[in-house]
Amino acid sequence: FVIPDFQDFIKDIEEMYWTAKSITDGKVASYIPQLARANCDNWGVSVCTIDGQRFSIGDVNVPFTLQSCSKPLTYAMALEMLGPDVVHQYVGTEPSGRNFNELVLDHNMKPHNPMINAGAILVCSLLKTLDKPEMTLAEKFDYVMSFFSRLAGHEALGFNNAVFLSEREAADRNYALGFYMREHKCYPEKTNLRECMDFYFQCCSMEANCDIMSIMAATLANGGICPITDEKVLRPDSVRNVLSLMHSCGMYDYSGQFAFKVGLPAKSGVSGAMLIVVPNVMGICTWSPPLDPLGNSCRGLQFCEELIKRFNFHKYDNI
Ligand code: GLU
Repeated sequence: FVIPDFQDFIKDIEEMYWTAKSITDGKVASYIPQLARANCDNWGVSVCTIDGQRFSIGDVNVPFTLQSCSKPLTYAMALEMLGPDVVHQYVGTEPSGRNFNELVLDHNMKPHNPMINAGAILVCSLLKTLDKPEMTLAEKFDYVMSFFSRLAGHEALGFNNAVFLSEREAADRNYALGFYMREHKCYPEKTNLRECMDFYFQCCSMEANCDIMSIMAATLANGGICPITDEKVLRPDSVRNVLSLMHSCGMYDYSGQFAFKVGLPAKSGVSGAMLIVVPNVMGICTWSPPLDPLGNSCRGLQFCEELIKRFNFHKYDNI
């Protein structure tokens, strides 16, 4: 086993869980009513090792919407289906140094990277327009959802229609980004912007829980092979690219500090979820809705910092 004494490891995770549980900092996202109603007390942690050992504690079966945690998944799918050369004709690999939804493109007039809204909207247009273009939006939705589900060992994902409708209503900035990119001819030819935006909101509104998301993170930790089903879902080069950009761009405007302090690829979303990858060891998902001012889950961050204090998982710990 990659974690020889799993029982011992679990004791640490439990202690860290209870320490983080007492944190009362942060505010839940309030830009749509469905997220504003989130329960601040919810707190769950799930781990899944690359050899399939699993442990979950807390509210690990309560569904939440993927929100920005869908960004590395759509990016992974685009890499897998279209290859990195095509994908990166359209989207960069540089941290933006700006807010995740800021109305700004890079020097080549491309979105900075696939982990911010502009880049993720663009990736959705690539998946919609270039990969199996004959599919309708309805077919594409099923196709993407079943791909995400393969990453999670064929666990079923859900879809929150109320969140989807609210996201679409409260999306002035995302539409502004969408049109700004169209002005600069960022999309592949034949892109239907309305469909592309709907597709992006749908990806944000898919639902999973900690348990399921930890398997997705473990598939990334395991080079693209799901540790539960042994299915090869992603090529190693796709995984390498996804992890590289999670490492540099995955934690909003805290990404540089997170890379410094924690040194692990991770992605957080406004629902309070965090996907954390310990390459070649395990995937972790934490979920707790209260967010710090930069948009990362307060309990999730504290958990990660404690994890690195107790274990040598930081990328440069073994130097
Ligand atoms: N649906 C949100 C948006 O596009 C996702 C934000 C996030 O999780 O960062 O504004």
